[in-house]
Amino acid sequence: KARKRFGQNFLQDQGIIRQIIRSIAPHPSDHMVEIGPGLGALTEEILSEAGALDAIELDRDLPPILRTKFFRYEDKFRIFEADAMKFDFNELRQDDDRPLRIVGNLPYNISTQLIFHLLSHAGDILDMHFMLQKEVVDRLAAKPGDNNYGRLGIMAQYYCDVEPLFIVPPEAFDPIPKVDSAIVRLTPHKTLPHVAQDLTMLKRVVTTAFTQRRKTLRNNLKELISADKLEEIGIDPTLRPERLTIADFIVIADQLSSTQ
Ligand code: SAM
Repeated sequence: KARKRFGQNFLQDQGIIRQIIRSIAPHPSDHMVEIGPGLGALTEEILSEAGALDAIELDRDLPPILRTKFFRYEDKFRIFEADAMKFDFNELRQDDDRPLRIVGNLPYNISTQLIFHLLSHAGDILDMHFMLQKEVVDRLAAKPGDNNYGRLGIMAQYYCDVEPLFIVPPEAFDPIPKVDSAIVRLTPHKTLPHVAQDLTMLKRVVTTAFTQRRKTLRNNLKELISADKLEEIGIDPTLRPERLTIADFIVIADQLSSTQ
């Protein structure tokens, strides 16, 4: 029986499962990681194609079921009974240097926090494919001026190329969730803009700038930087935060880092 506290909605629709696997296109040279394999709806197809699969599952009742179900793959399948939010993904590369390909039909209650955690491991990751609430995929892919453009989209796009792939209807799951879902691909950039040395500052600037999204930068950022200074570095202080590009936020973060 699915457990609500673990955000369990198991994929049922074979057509959707095939479509997801086609988008991921697992390959024998891949080191894959599945977050929350559940009862293994995606796991089987990944195992049959990929070179290695590490699964991270919090519900302790599930790993024994998965080990039995997939015993014939035991030489390339490891299951970690762990919380993906606290997991050190770099550890998986200790005896296998390949960057990780991450996959997950994520528990929706923790999906944005989990994505932030994974972004902090972007250097270990080749790409990520996630099933998320459609609303979260829209926020991840939002551009300046969109009304759902904010911290999640800016930080995700700072680290990754974001590609929404397709929508998944509620009926594809058991139990049926209340919302539409969607598949998204995140591909970490090969090189990050130079502010990478001071990400704490970028995060702080973005979070502060969006404190009240209908107010101007001058207002939201006044504790951090003066309107004059903003003008001096080429940022119009009368704009609302949603008008700024990621590059603009980086300019502000750089200015603040250099004067500290
Ligand atoms: N992949 C399966 C599928 O598509 O049918 C299950 C998806 S279900 C939406 C989410 C899965 O993540 C569940 O198996 C749940 O137990 C697991 N899970 C929940 N919180 C987790 C966490 N913090 N770390 C790892 N797995 C977690």
